[in-house]
Amino acid sequence: MRYISTRGQAPALSFEEVVLTGMASDGGLYVPEEVPQLSHDELASMAGLSYAEIAFRVMKPYVNGEIDDATFRGIVEEAYATFSHDAVVPLNQLDANHFLLELFHGPTLAFKDVALQLLGRILDHFLQKRGERAVIMGATSGDTGSAAIEGCRHCDNLDIFILHPHQRVSEVQRRQMTTVLADNVFNVAIEGNFDDAQAMVKASFADQGFLDGTRLVAVNSINWARIMAQIVYYVASAVALGAPHRAVSFCVPSANFGNVFAGYMAKRMGLPVKQFIIATNANDILHRTLADNDFSKQELVATLAPSMDIVVSSNFERLLFEAYERDGAAVRALLERFQAEPSALAEAPLARLRESFASHSVSDATILEVIREAHHRTQEVLDPHTATGYRAAEQARADAQTPVITLATAHPAKFAEAVVKAGFPGVPLPPHMDDLLEREERYSVLPAELSAVQQFVAENRR
Ligand SMILES: *Cc1c(COP(=O)(O)O)cnc(C)c1O
Repeated sequence: MRYISTRGQAPALSFEEVVLTGMASDGGLYVPEEVPQLSHDELASMAGLSYAEIAFRVMKPYVNGEIDDATFRGIVEEAYATFSHDAVVPLNQLDANHFLLELFHGPTLAFKDVALQLLGRILDHFLQKRGERAVIMGATSGDTGSAAIEGCRHCDNLDIFILHPHQRVSEVQRRQMTTVLADNVFNVAIEGNFDDAQAMVKASFADQGFLDGTRLVAVNSINWARIMAQIVYYVASAVALGAPHRAVSFCVPSANFGNVFAGYMAKRMGLPVKQFIIATNANDILHRTLADNDFSKQELVATLAPSMDIVVSSNFERLLFEAYERDGAAVRALLERFQAEPSALAEAPLARLRESFASHSVSDATILEVIREAHHRTQEVLDPHTATGYRAAEQARADAQTPVITLATAHPAKFAEAVVKAGFPGVPLPPHMDDLLEREERYSVLPAELSAVQQFVAENRR
């Protein structure tokens, strides 16, 4: 198994190389050269297995023997032992045919833990084997940073530097990052906004001279291993509801498209999926593209579901590559045009997408209404991201017979603002975090200057 770029001009890579590389040198994203298949019998034999065992079986072909089976099994088991629910990602039945897949039982209470608990361990394994060290740099407006830190805190061969905008993230989100006191974790509060922080990370990747040859690794969702880890819960939840003997549909609160693209990969591997429903907030590029073929950027809107606030969905490129029947030149041309002006997809690729995907966009006012309505009907308090999914599933499902699984991407306690606005007194943090507001914090405040940040990284990495 090798990995190829969606823009067709970068060299093919092994699994190990792809995990350590991030973006392809031609500006594209890496995808597997062939899609491994799960036969009817293989899917059927997963019924009743533990999440870790299903994870091992689903991911094994992608790892391609580059980590031996016993070691990889150990990595997977360790990653998912950090989750507080025995089922790792439990299914919660809401009504006759609508289920919530609770992806928020990991250390930081959002679905990104599923991939990042695994990715940190895989990176550490490869670096150990190569006798190398690496630096991770990332910018966060809240969610990804804490999940990345939790995923790397035990990694001997990695130092992680996460930049957040000083005094512009919520106290809970800041403390989830700054109370991790491990020697290899560095939180930097930038005296600027999120865009300043992100620009400095991008500039550091573009010119890595300040690290004297030490590798800089990206853990954002363009890293293939994150997609790979997310394929697993589509398979596990569908099997729990009767796959491969019956099909299910999935509804996915979406932003950068990494999560729902993983679902699409599960379908390509052989999982019977009737429909994917993409839920967006007011930042609705995915919905506009599917519904109206309006593939254009619009101003960023700050919403009650902040982890879905994006202008461009980076992983959509991976789906476009499939829709354009793996024509890297066509994808490159489309995306270069898109950077400069409002664009549209060609007819045949758009028709292909519409065979598998529906979409629905949900406003802030509707998010609040849905949180109240869902509680009234089911007793569940949904987080605002999951609320977009709940509504989109009801609005856009093709039929009432096929079970629909809405992905619950965050715990409601993590996004208390929306829950309180919806009229609830708030949701307590789960027991393992209930002393978060008393824990010791550690972080450094730096000016929004590239040289200051790079000097800090160069001096503090171990
Ligand atoms: C990151 C995130 C999303 C969006 O996921 P993508 O893979 O970027 O589409 C949705 N909800 C929550 C809570 C998130 O943290």
